[in-house]
Amino acid sequence: NGEIEFENVNFSYDGRTTALDNVSFKVPKGSSVALVGESGSGKSTILRLLYRFYDLKDGEGRIMIDGQDIRNVTQASLRRAIGVIPQDSILFNSSISYNIGYGKFGSSSDEIEAAARSAQMHERIMSFPDGYMTKVGERGVRLSGGEKQRVSIARTLLKNPPILLLDEATSALDTSTEKDIQKALQELQVGRSSLAIAHRLSTIATADTILVMREGRIVEQGKHADLIERG
Ligand code: ADP
Ligand code: ADP
Repeated sequence: NGEIEFENVNFSYDGRTTALDNVSFKVPKGSSVALVGESGSGKSTILRLLYRFYDLKDGEGRIMIDGQDIRNVTQASLRRAIGVIPQDSILFNSSISYNIGYGKFGSSSDEIEAAARSAQMHERIMSFPDGYMTKVGERGVRLSGGEKQRVSIARTLLKNPPILLLDEATSALDTSTEKDIQKALQELQVGRSSLAIAHRLSTIATADTILVMREGRIVEQGKHADLIERG
């Protein structure tokens, strides 16, 4: 499972200006959709609505996951179903493994670290000087944007949700970091439905479908090659 559907969705933050205007699309199970468009065109609003930061009003359309209106899904099961890789993760002032495992493997940091270690999934995507024990925000360890994204990716791998929401960084990462992260993200997307606010050309080129947004509407929809042909 993991099919997402927006059906005639209208949304306004303030009741006057339109953030989304009759938006309809489907993310078939296991496929990837990239949202592109200028700042303010409605991309983040789509992700926020899917995660229920805001709810639709009656008569303003429906958002469904596997055919079920998300207003009838509890916040807890929604959070289990959806993994989020934000543009800039806020991490706890604690070890890397704590940041990867919190909420999933009990509450004591020993328990969490043990579980995160035994899963070992994140070893291949992370390399910090003291490994799991590296403390975020202590001893001068400040993670770069790319490293923070790796922590998010590792955390999401352990959580194993059927749906992924990705908000790509607008600021350029250096090329080798970008490649590493892109690779990890692509692995993460296998077998999951994903919806990404896309800035990287590689994300746009590899998406199954691209939705081009302008002023709250989907103005074009298709594969990368089709959109290039149409100009
Ligand atoms: P994008 O992600 O494409 O940059 P957004 O979805 O953030 O666009 O914004 C869509 C529209 O909604 C814009 O006009 C924006 O100013 C407005 N908007 C976004 N967030 C808020 C908010 N929290 N309160 C009021 N208006 C908002
Ligand atoms: P991004 O470019 O990362 O999508 P935005 O610039 O759209 O970020 O929004 C950054 C934050 O400001 C968001 O939390 C959003 O809800 C809020 N925001 C965006 N536009 C408005 C607006 N017109 N009025 C109030 N808050 C807004």
